[in-house]
Amino acid sequence: MVARLLGPGPFAPTIAAKLETRAVARPAVRDDIPVARRTLNPALRRRRGWRPVLGTAVVLLALGVGLVLVFPGPLRRLLGPPPVQGLSARQGIDGRLLGHFPYAEAKAIALVEVAPGQSLRREAAQALRALLQDAAGSGVDLRLLSAFRSEALQKHLFFDVKAARNQSAEERARVSAPPGFSEHSTGYAVDLGDGSRPQTNLSANFDQTPAFHWLKQNANRYHFQLSFPLNNRQGVSYEPWHWRFEGSADALRQFEAAQRFNR
Ligand SMILES: [Zn+2]
Repeated sequence: MVARLLGPGPFAPTIAAKLETRAVARPAVRDDIPVARRTLNPALRRRRGWRPVLGTAVVLLALGVGLVLVFPGPLRRLLGPPPVQGLSARQGIDGRLLGHFPYAEAKAIALVEVAPGQSLRREAAQALRALLQDAAGSGVDLRLLSAFRSEALQKHLFFDVKAARNQSAEERARVSAPPGFSEHSTGYAVDLGDGSRPQTNLSANFDQTPAFHWLKQNANRYHFQLSFPLNNRQGVSYEPWHWRFEGSADALRQFEAAQRFNR
């Protein structure tokens, strides 16, 4: 009986043949099913189709809103129009335009007259008066050439002079800030000259005058410092005549980005 079951009997070849047939037949049977019937049913496919798309859209929207909330400035700079009308240049990631940092225009109420037609913020005006007085006391003829400048005046100085001198925007920006990007707009910056050497006014060789040497020795006592020294990292040309006041919390805050950049 046992020998009949295990040994080669009449049924053994039949079972082996069936198993072989099944093994060979399986792929054939699968290929016989039409592709459309082998995949999921269409309703389920449709549902799986829009869900990931909607999920991705929601995640992207949340990411976009988050970026706008966290980085409104850089995104506006990247996606918005160029900041100065008439200039195609855009601000860099650090906010600079052609080397210059952006500055808000001081309100008229914050300004006091420091010389006829020239005004500064109150603290800067007091410090400048003391500086001029002490320079005069030392026999130095230090003159105030320019103080607060409105954005409208800066616009004229940038565009009209650029046109008159046939300069490109980049060339002009090396010697003058575009409107909205001038330290003079803050009411904390001044251009100084030497009354005994007026030919050096607003030129690099002002640094050869007695007035400049006195400033180098003494300006820090009155919280004034040179904004654009020789080979400054901002890429603005050397301006030995241009000094900014950093003697108040507000002034320090306004020039913090420039300070950090040039450190
Ligand atoms: Zn200046």
